[in-house]
Amino acid sequence: MYSQIEKKLKSGEVIVIDGGTGTDIQRRGGAMSGETWCADANLTHPDVVREVHEDYIRAGAELITANTFATSALLFNALGRDADLISIDQAAVALAKAAAANHPVAVAGSVSTMRPVVKGSDRTSKQREWPEREARALFKRKVDNLARCHVDLLMMEMMRDVDYSVWATEAALATGLPVWVGISGRDHLRRLLRPGAGAHHRAGEGVCRGMKTGSCLCGAVKYEVHGTLRKVVACHCEQCRKQTGTYMSATAAQDGDLRIVEDRGLRWYSSSDSARRGFCCECGSPLFWKGKGRDYTAITAGSLDGPSGLVIEGHIFCESAGDYYEIAGGTYRRARWMNEGQSS
Ligand SMILES: [Zn+2]
Ligand SMILES: [Zn+2]
Repeated sequence: MYSQIEKKLKSGEVIVIDGGTGTDIQRRGGAMSGETWCADANLTHPDVVREVHEDYIRAGAELITANTFATSALLFNALGRDADLISIDQAAVALAKAAAANHPVAVAGSVSTMRPVVKGSDRTSKQREWPEREARALFKRKVDNLARCHVDLLMMEMMRDVDYSVWATEAALATGLPVWVGISGRDHLRRLLRPGAGAHHRAGEGVCRGMKTGSCLCGAVKYEVHGTLRKVVACHCEQCRKQTGTYMSATAAQDGDLRIVEDRGLRWYSSSDSARRGFCCECGSPLFWKGKGRDYTAITAGSLDGPSGLVIEGHIFCESAGDYYEIAGGTYRRARWMNEGQSS
């Protein structure tokens, strides 16, 4: 089936492929395990998976992708389910092939470098890393199995880790099958590609992923954020007004993602029983807001280095805003609170 796709590619024609298979499986009620997303649906909801493929073919897809993205070699290894990966992928390819039977449609095996997902979030855990040899062996096992299942090509999806992506893609190429590679750029990569373009956030999203750095004015406090930064919330409460001189524009990071790399000047002021404010005792810069029992730290957006790629989400405690400025930007203005009281 791949020969006709190759012919079209060579003549510069457009090839229509399927869409978000996993998302579609979820939409149709396929089981979504918190740990493996749609991987197990190949076994538990085979009819749903096959229907998704069939509908894409009916809609004109010339190439469909077996539901093997979430059976990531790294993820299943971390879960101690190496053997399951093999059997689930066999089932997934069989379903895609059954849907494609009697149609001029090629079947791709999807390969990802997805890592364990932090429960209840869409973030992947960076706790676990694999040495090169081990990772290459895991990727080889995955793609060799897909090749044995006779997929027409291998689809490297969302390749973004510069090490794992290369090792996985080299393992794929070694099978001798055609390999398509989809690259996902992270924020710092996009910044490298387009310096100063301010385009390193997803359009309309306004959150920022990838490593960011920040500091106080004098450098006696420095930090790194390894993960997603929330959109900016402007707090106009009296405390933020007093501390900043105007209002507090703050993004936020999960505590596990925030690393203080210089704390020489860092001091914490308990502004109430429920929150502390981190600032630099050398230069006076306000930096952090930490609520008791919360798993995130608010970070003053102004302390981030370089363009933040963030957008303002909205304004809170507008009833105590200063009367000498206008409240602008964002999609909401709240008199007081956000999520059971952001500030104090
Ligand atoms: Zn300082
Ligand atoms: Zn406030």
